[in-house]
Amino acid sequence: MLMSCVNQMMDMFLPDYVFNKIWDISEEDIKGMGVKFLLLDIDNTLTEHNGKVPRVEALRWLKKLKEVGIGAAIVSNGGAKRVKAFAGVLGLQYEYSSRKPLRVGLKNIVERLGWPKSETAIIGDQIYTDILGGNAFGIKTILVQPIETERRLFLRIKRFLEKPFLKKAKKRETVLRL
Ligand SMILES: [Mg+2]
Repeated sequence: MLMSCVNQMMDMFLPDYVFNKIWDISEEDIKGMGVKFLLLDIDNTLTEHNGKVPRVEALRWLKKLKEVGIGAAIVSNGGAKRVKAFAGVLGLQYEYSSRKPLRVGLKNIVERLGWPKSETAIIGDQIYTDILGGNAFGIKTILVQPIETERRLFLRIKRFLEKPFLKKAKKRETVLRL
């Protein structure tokens, strides 16, 4: 009983898929997941931490997805000014100060855009915000490896604390494309 409870809690931290970088996720991969809509994190997913503009690879990747009709929107815990500017460059809808891992921000934007939860996935680089939030909200979760190594101590500690879950994910049903 206790163990199944613990396992259920652990599942909340496990991504459904793990890829190296966001641009390594192909259109076929996304379709294979039964996903048509993507919620995208910014920092260390589309650009380096606090990067002003998306990485060229991310721009190219998004352009391709748009062409095949896969929807995308930005969901970031960053503030209004930065998120608006970043999403503006990409021409995407956005939710700023989204308070991941809470469900509220994800719920807001998915409802606003009228996306079915069953066909929506979140892509981000952090287990304790992006993956936990996506699992709590009940959508598919895709973890990517951060674009750059963390310099700030707080984030480095967080990375260290992610390690047991990554190890567990590798033994579980999580699909790995690293
Ligand atoms: Mg991030």
